[in-house]
Amino acid sequence: MDKILLMLQLQLQLNDATNGEKWRNGKTKTGNPINWKRCIYMECAEMIDSFSWKHWKNLNQAPDWANLQIEVVDVWHFIISLALEEYAKEMKGEIEELALNLSALSNFAALHNKNVQHGTQNEIITKVENIMLLALQKEPFEIEEIVAEFFDLVLLSGLDLDTLYRLYVGKNILNQFRQDHGYKDGSYIKEWDGQEDNVVMKRLWDEDADMQPEVLYKKMAKIYLPLTQR
Ligand code: MG
Ligand code: MG
Repeated sequence: MDKILLMLQLQLQLNDATNGEKWRNGKTKTGNPINWKRCIYMECAEMIDSFSWKHWKNLNQAPDWANLQIEVVDVWHFIISLALEEYAKEMKGEIEELALNLSALSNFAALHNKNVQHGTQNEIITKVENIMLLALQKEPFEIEEIVAEFFDLVLLSGLDLDTLYRLYVGKNILNQFRQDHGYKDGSYIKEWDGQEDNVVMKRLWDEDADMQPEVLYKKMAKIYLPLTQR
């Protein structure tokens, strides 16, 4: 199945599980406001912190490329949440239509080529700040414009559609799994026989490049459930 559509569906499920279906109107289960744009620009700030940019500190430290990619995946969660909210609120179409419109963006095709080459620090920070500007812009705003900038950022960060998908789905399923197993009430067990849950998830996910997301979830449950019966 189309990777963009699949990621949108997984995000929809995660948001439903975390906040109930009201999130589509910008409210949590308990009626508090959800501000996806703020989530986006705050996460963008975390991205910039992968670089040594502070002139009063050591500027020669190497960028933390691995962290940059993690933050790119974090911001993607929020950008597609904003897109889903926008399409629901403004009645711009169903999730399939959103997936089609995002896939039709002119720079999307380039994401299909394998890419491990990243851009320069300056190129990346400029792109990230463009995304922040768009997220801070008052209405009217075009979600497609943010996504187009994000697609450029994916390439600049040394990722492509495939690696974005792998990182995103792994994190999404982990978040989903935590939500379903008591993360909010504190009963969730994060150490699985001496290993952190995200390490176990990554090992399972890396075992098979063609694994479906729901299979990853089931494999995690198989390891986790016995831990809860001790
Ligand atoms: Mg964060
Ligand atoms: Mg983050």
